[in-house]
Amino acid sequence: MKRIRKKILVTGGAGFIGSHLCERLLNEGNEVICLDNYFTGSKRNILHLMQNPYFELIRHDITSPFFIEVDEIYNLACPASPIHYQCNPIKTIKTSVMGAINMLGLAKRIKVPILQASTSEVYGDPVVHPQTESYWGNVNPIGNRSCYDEGKRCAETLFMDYHLQNQVQIKIIRIFNTYGPKMHPNDGRVVSNFIMQALQNQAITIYGDGSQSRSFQYIDDLLDGMIRMMAADKSFIGPVNLGNPNEFTILELAERIIRLTGSKSKIIFEPLPADDPRQRQPDITLARKKLGWEPRIQLEEGLTATINYFKDFIKNN
Ligand code: NAD
Ligand code: UDP
Repeated sequence: MKRIRKKILVTGGAGFIGSHLCERLLNEGNEVICLDNYFTGSKRNILHLMQNPYFELIRHDITSPFFIEVDEIYNLACPASPIHYQCNPIKTIKTSVMGAINMLGLAKRIKVPILQASTSEVYGDPVVHPQTESYWGNVNPIGNRSCYDEGKRCAETLFMDYHLQNQVQIKIIRIFNTYGPKMHPNDGRVVSNFIMQALQNQAITIYGDGSQSRSFQYIDDLLDGMIRMMAADKSFIGPVNLGNPNEFTILELAERIIRLTGSKSKIIFEPLPADDPRQRQPDITLARKKLGWEPRIQLEEGLTATINYFKDFIKNN
C-alpha cells in the first residue's frame, strides 16, 4: 500500500533534537516544515536538508501566533541548556507558556495531534527514585531553574486542559538528558562540555564533587520513542518518560570520556550550581508497555559517535 506523505510542523527544528527529528521525518517520506527563531538553534544543523523539496524553513518565534495547515505538530521550541535558558528567564517562560498556547490554538483550529517535548525537569530535585510519571516532583518555584521547570510544568497543564476542554489530541513526552551529534559545543551541557574539554586536553570541569547522577539517552533512541508516541493510539496521551535508565555519576561520565578520547585532561572541581538535581533516572515501564519502546544504544556506543562528531567539528572550525 502506498504510504501517505504527511505534512509535519517541527517547532525548534533547527536545534539539537529538532534537526535530527526533521531529518528522520523526511527520511520516512514526510514533508517537514521547520520553524525556529535561531535562539539556540542554527541553520548549520539543517543545511543538508535545504535541497530537499519536501523541507521548508520558517523563521518565527512561537511566542507570537502562527497560522499554517499541517497534519501533525511536534512542539520542541525552547532553549534546553541551563546557561541558555537562564540568560533570559522571562523569555524562557514565555516560550514555554505562550508558545504552548499558540501551538495548542493552532492544533485546535486545524484539528491535528500535537506532541509536547516536556522534560524530566518537571520532577525537579526528585525525592522518588527512579521517577515514575505519577510522581508530582520537587520543584523550587523561585530558583534559577524555575523559568524552565515551571514553564514546562505549566505547558503540561495547558496541554491537558486543551485536551479536556477542547478535545485537542495531545501527546506529552518527558525527555531525560539526551546527547549526541549536533549538540551545541558551547551550550554548557555536561556531555558536550566534557567531550570538547577532553578533545582539547583542557581541564574537565566537574560541578560539585561529581557524585550527582544523570541517565543519558542517545538521540536515536529518543527519536524512535517520539515517533512511536505520535503514532500511538490517540487514547494514549502521556505523559510518558523517554530516557535511558542506566544511571551514572558525573564523575563516572568524566572518567569514561577521558578514557574514550585518550585525553590528557585533568579533572577539576567547581562549585555546584543552585538547585542542581542530585539524581535522575527514568522509570520507563509505561513506555515499554504502551509504546513497545526501550533504548538500545548504551553510553559507550553513543559517546563514541558523539566524540567522532566533535572531532570533526573541531577540525573544521
Ligand atoms: P536546543 O536549544 O538545541 O533546541 C531548541 C530550539 O528551539 C532551538 O533551535 C531554538 O533556536 C528554538 N527556539 C527557542 N526559543 C524559541 C522560540 N521562542 N520560538 C521559536 N524557536 C525557538 O535544545 P534541544 O536539546 O534540541 O531541546 C529541544 C526540546 O526538547 C526543548 O523543548 C527541550 O526543553 C526539550 N528537552 C531536551 C532535553 C535534552 O536533553 N536535550 C531534555 C529534556 C527536554
Ligand atoms: N555539569 C558538570 N560540569 C559541566 C557541566 C555540567 O559537572 O561542565 C553537571 C551539572 O552540574 C549537572 C550535570 O552535570 O549536575 C548535568 O548537567 P546538564 O546541564 O548537562 O543537565 P541538567 O542539569 O539539566 O540535567
